[in-house]
Amino acid sequence: MANDHAIVVGGSMAGMCTARVLSEFYRKVTVVDRDAYPAGAHERPGVPQSRHVHALLMRGRQELETLFPGFERSMLASGALDLNFGLDFAVLRRAGWSKRQRGAISTLFASRVLMEETVRSLLRRTVNIELIERADVIGIKTERRAILRATGIKCVPRDGRGDFELTGDLIIDASGRSTKFPGWIRDLGLALPEEIVVDSHTGYASRWYTALAPGTRPAEWWWKGVWLEPRGDEVAEAGVLFPVEGNRFLVTLAGWGGKYPPSDEDGFTAQLQKLRSPIIAQEVALAEPLSNVYSYRQMANRWRRYDRWQSRLEGFLALGDSTCAFNPVYGQGMTSAALEALILRDCLKEFGSPDDGFAPKFFNRIAKFQAEPWAMATGADFNFSGTEGRRPPAPARALNRVIGKMIEVGAEDQVIADRLSEVVNMLRPPGSLFEARMLARIARAWGRRMVRGRQAPAEVSSMPPLLPAQRMAA
Ligand SMILES: Cc1cc2nc3c(=O)[nH]c(=O)nc-3n(C[C@H](O)[C@H](O)[C@H](O)COP(=O)(O)OP(=O)(O)OC[C@H]3O[C@@H](n4cnc5c(N)ncnc54)[C@H](O)[C@@H]3O)c2cc1C
Repeated sequence: MANDHAIVVGGSMAGMCTARVLSEFYRKVTVVDRDAYPAGAHERPGVPQSRHVHALLMRGRQELETLFPGFERSMLASGALDLNFGLDFAVLRRAGWSKRQRGAISTLFASRVLMEETVRSLLRRTVNIELIERADVIGIKTERRAILRATGIKCVPRDGRGDFELTGDLIIDASGRSTKFPGWIRDLGLALPEEIVVDSHTGYASRWYTALAPGTRPAEWWWKGVWLEPRGDEVAEAGVLFPVEGNRFLVTLAGWGGKYPPSDEDGFTAQLQKLRSPIIAQEVALAEPLSNVYSYRQMANRWRRYDRWQSRLEGFLALGDSTCAFNPVYGQGMTSAALEALILRDCLKEFGSPDDGFAPKFFNRIAKFQAEPWAMATGADFNFSGTEGRRPPAPARALNRVIGKMIEVGAEDQVIADRLSEVVNMLRPPGSLFEARMLARIARAWGRRMVRGRQAPAEVSSMPPLLPAQRMAA
């Protein structure tokens, strides 16, 4: 089969990373999206999640730079903030405020629309990639040779131009959580891949604000962002404040177990007061709202097991949220999309042309990768009662217990905090938490905590500690 034309359905993060990789192997790559791409960093209907906080994990930052050299420079030039979470964020963990200390990871804070716009403008530099906008993909074309093969897609333009079809050697589903491909696969008479769903009934509500002009914030507010964690079922609501480009910030409230944060303005403001600290409410009280409150509730973990698929449709691949979407609270989606595109690159290098037999090998590879973020996300979700779906196997439950302990003792031990941060940021595999030296360190820190806990229970103040100099001046 010739590597002549590859077609990617969906031009969001997974689709763009995939197109970038395919452009190295195909004469022509076409990316089809139903939206018109905005001029600049603005919302579009096909990516409604862009109204909510998007954390780009360190691994994602690195891999986007690999795929799109200049990504980081361009983000920073557009106003993204490069922050050290341990140093720049007020972080309230389950057991109390984290000590303010420089961590091993620095993170780019920016709006999701800026990340997407930056990647898109870098993608446009690749000459053999064509972006088709405002075209709804409504079906796939197939041909039965020795085996059933996908040969193209059917499209309906949104601007009244006539319907059209595209023919290609490889068709990729990167159309996200709302993918229509499973329905088309069923219409072909093929069995669907097994779908595993773990739903902790999590929801978001978000609002955008103009921050105070630089230099006018109260001097004792040393933090640039805020992270207030839930305390399990007892307090299943969380809130974050992320600074983004353009002297703005975004507040997202999250609730687990069906405790969805309010989606109206009064309810949202009232909910800020009920969080474990009033810190976000105080900042919001001084800021100018820029938007309504946006709500999002389709956040279940959903894994389509194409690696176990009994049916065969050659010339068809899927990646990104269309195959495995995680509860977004854990910030894994964009990084996974980039890594899955890079796995595709490895497979194309190793197995050559995606001829018969390529798809199962690719699906096996990405499933192997997806298993780790899946275990982390679903394991964490099962900390909340009311989470429904298949429980993770014993090793994943053990992982979750270790992570729980590390979060608590990491507030005092930077080595533990850094290792956890590296795993959460996908720089190291979760297995690295089980190294004997690390387990011993966690056990010692936990032991110290137990002894101290019996003497004097830790008090959790509602506001983060001041910096030493401020304390002296106060
Ligand atoms: C509320 C929320 C918050 C999130 N927060 C984070 C975070 O903090 N960090 C993180 O890394 N990830 C986060 N994610 C996940 C992240 O947004 C996705 O994982 C990432 O965008 C990759 O998704 P994707 O490209 O596979 O699909 P999507 O981003 O959903 O894009 C799908 C694309 O396909 C197009 N499309 C769909 N159907 C068709 C069709 N029939 N024809 C033509 N085009 C079509 C759409 O217009 C869209 O452009 C969050 C997700 C949600 C829902």
